[in-house]
Amino acid sequence: MKIGVYGGTFNPPHLGHLISARFAMDALGLDKLIFVPAAVPPHKELPEGSPSAEKRLEMMAIAADTLLLPGKVEVSDMELRREGKSYTADTLRQLRGQYPQDELWLLMGADMFLSLPNWREPETICALAHLAAFARKEGDTEEALERQGSYLSRTYGAKTRVVQLPRITPVSSTQLRELLKRGEGQRYLPLAVYGYILRHGLYGVQADLTALSNEDLRACSLSMVYAKRHAHILGVEEEAVRLAKRWGADQELARRGGILHDCTKYLSLEEHLAICEKYGIVPDELERESPKLLHSKTGAALARNLYGQNDEIYWAIYWHTTGKADMSLLEKIIYLADYIEPNRDFEGVEEMRRLCYEDLDAGLLMGLEMSVEDLNERGVPIHKNTRGALEWLREHRKG
Ligand code: ATP
Repeated sequence: MKIGVYGGTFNPPHLGHLISARFAMDALGLDKLIFVPAAVPPHKELPEGSPSAEKRLEMMAIAADTLLLPGKVEVSDMELRREGKSYTADTLRQLRGQYPQDELWLLMGADMFLSLPNWREPETICALAHLAAFARKEGDTEEALERQGSYLSRTYGAKTRVVQLPRITPVSSTQLRELLKRGEGQRYLPLAVYGYILRHGLYGVQADLTALSNEDLRACSLSMVYAKRHAHILGVEEEAVRLAKRWGADQELARRGGILHDCTKYLSLEEHLAICEKYGIVPDELERESPKLLHSKTGAALARNLYGQNDEIYWAIYWHTTGKADMSLLEKIIYLADYIEPNRDFEGVEEMRRLCYEDLDAGLLMGLEMSVEDLNERGVPIHKNTRGALEWLREHRKG
């Protein structure tokens, strides 16, 4: 197996890291890539007020996840668990022990590649791993990198490779920290990493979470879930706004409900129960066992209490999994947007989309009936509120 190792301070991780990593993976034909955030970097002092190593690790995990290569891209806490400064030679020795038969490739930008002779134990590094270098700013010429490659092979027996990136991402974490302080720099970050920075108030970014713009609210929500769910969340937002427009509901409320509806999707049962406890939600017997059912309740609680959304949004998120008797227009919209957003492709989705824009309650009835059928087939108990929603609709629906 060919394994890439990408070390750094990642304070914060940015698109320069991700884009170079992604292209290097292809260029080198890597089977796996491991990002290794440094606990105490040997080359530089962490500026005062930097987030803890754990927070940098979490940001890196969010950033790496946006590459959408689960199982292939990992983030390791090995340097965080080691005492003292984080030397690459130690990291490679440890990885060599873990992967005795595999080919290790140490990935780095031109700045690091050119300074490698000054690192601790360069000969050990070159013996344990091959080196892949890429430009990180316009002045980093291929010629200079090739020259350094030859020098490292002559001096340390290194095997090196210069990776051509199709484009430079002209940013460093240092510049980014300055930009963030001034309320700029978002364009160099994956949205979810920016959301994490917002939620934790890092790098001098001070946001009132109860009064965020739609863009910042989206960033926060995406930062709370795995990247594989991002497209769905954005799809629900888009569909909810479209449905609101069609049926004369408040489009902004629909948008915000869509953005936040799944923000607690990946919490553990314990985390859900803690949020319920904190905000006075009493889960019933079925919910107590099911994060799937609880995520709508806890998502609603955070939408209202953490992100300052109003009661209409609260209830629309609250009921988006089970439905209930006599739903409000916004509740129906979020429930159905979740069902028919553009990424859904189950059998019958086209028919349901048509119905939702022709007769909202007919769409709702179809959605509820399909859910019940699906749950029955899978032997999952039907929540009483879903039954309630169906009965109410059958009784009251006109036409
Ligand atoms: P700082 O500004 O704090 O020095 P940095 O942006 O250089 O941070 P690090 O985490 O120190 O980021 O760098 C980790 C690795 O990523 C290094 O090998 C570095 O050369 C590389 N790298 C950083 N920024 C870029 C970029 N924009 N393009 C390509 N590689 C980059």
